[in-house]
Amino acid sequence: MKQTIRSKHIVTHEGIRAGVIRIEDQRIGSIESYDYSEAAGEQIDAADLFVLPGLIDSHVHINEPGRTAWEGFETATRAGAAGGYTCLIDMPLNCIPSTATVDALQKKRDTFRGKAHTDLAFWGAVVPGNVDEIIPLAREGVRGFKCFLTHPGTDEFEMVTKADLRRAMPKVAETGLPLLAHAEVPGPMIDASAALDATGADWTRYATYLQSRPEEAELEAIRILIDLCREYRCRTHIVHLSAAAALHELEDARRERLPVTVETCPHYLFFDAESIPDRATQFKCAPPIRGSSNRDALWQGLRDRTIDLIATDHSPCPPEMKCFNVGSFRSAWGGISSLSVSLPAVWTEASRRGFVITDVVRWMSEAPARLAGIDSRKGRIAAGFDADLVLFDPNAEFTVDAGRLHFRHPFTPYAGKRLRGKVKSVMLRGSICFAEGRFQGCPGGVEVFTCPG
Ligand SMILES: [Zn+2]
Repeated sequence: MKQTIRSKHIVTHEGIRAGVIRIEDQRIGSIESYDYSEAAGEQIDAADLFVLPGLIDSHVHINEPGRTAWEGFETATRAGAAGGYTCLIDMPLNCIPSTATVDALQKKRDTFRGKAHTDLAFWGAVVPGNVDEIIPLAREGVRGFKCFLTHPGTDEFEMVTKADLRRAMPKVAETGLPLLAHAEVPGPMIDASAALDATGADWTRYATYLQSRPEEAELEAIRILIDLCREYRCRTHIVHLSAAAALHELEDARRERLPVTVETCPHYLFFDAESIPDRATQFKCAPPIRGSSNRDALWQGLRDRTIDLIATDHSPCPPEMKCFNVGSFRSAWGGISSLSVSLPAVWTEASRRGFVITDVVRWMSEAPARLAGIDSRKGRIAAGFDADLVLFDPNAEFTVDAGRLHFRHPFTPYAGKRLRGKVKSVMLRGSICFAEGRFQGCPGGVEVFTCPG
């Protein structure tokens, strides 16, 4: 079926232009001039709305199979579509089994069919003892591998040591895929927590939690990863950078032309430690949200292009695991849910700081597509790319109503926040999947690796 979308603001990688996007067989056929008209097919006039390429979230914990009570393919992809995402890349942990073997990857594939409102792709795991699974997982289509340099918070996924990485990185390098690393090491955190306990620190205070995860834990991990990257020339991606103090070393690594890439998350760019109330465990995540000057420095990292991309690290859990009744930052699950609101959260702060929408699209669509190696068909509005399109009103404002979020457990630190920018409708490979607050049609998401065509 043929379709056209006319807009004065089509956000391409070359800038914003007026034009008509022609869609044919789920892909963008061409971009014509604004006065182009086609006799047949469905014609959408986006008027003053911006047309963005569908966002790609390279860091989502969907948790299914095994912990569907926390989140699942249906709820996560609904939340994603409502937030302007057309492709989610699922992390290999918190689900059971972890995606550390080809069998586990197959279980994921068997589970999501018919449930996904966005397209999907999968990261595999690097855990102690699965070195022999790395090449088979790559052959089976994972887009890269995730590892933890500290305890990940669930018992069935194990952290790696430097020795484990020495075994795994040459194999990952052989695949050409990236190794994604949770960059915190345990030492400085164990010391900090012991010192806090020795002085009887109050764990309902956010300041206690922040002190328990000092930036040295991130710095030390990033140094290890840069050194190993230099040794093995394995593509290395730092997930959810929080400590801006690491930016200098990351910049040096880039200058040295090491294949290191960096992501940060909307919550590090939107919130600051000074404003987080005590007992408000919905803000708990790891690494933690740091002070406002750190937040400013992260924005500078985006400006300098030391930080490549923004991913949500959407990591939900049932409300009881947030221990809201006790308000203890020690016992609460660390993870922030944000899929439906990440684009407006980032746009609110970015536009206030002088960035433009093409920057946001680079951070949240183009660069994540490149990280996952799906950039020949996703992450841009250009001929030949999947017709994944978002109609976005950059000026509309709204207050986040937790009752209207689409993930399984609708609580988030963004509740009650006034945000700028509204997703009006979302098209997945040429079919409208979300419009004016409603989901349309059957869940049509497929795995990108096995997309038709
Ligand atoms: Zn994560």
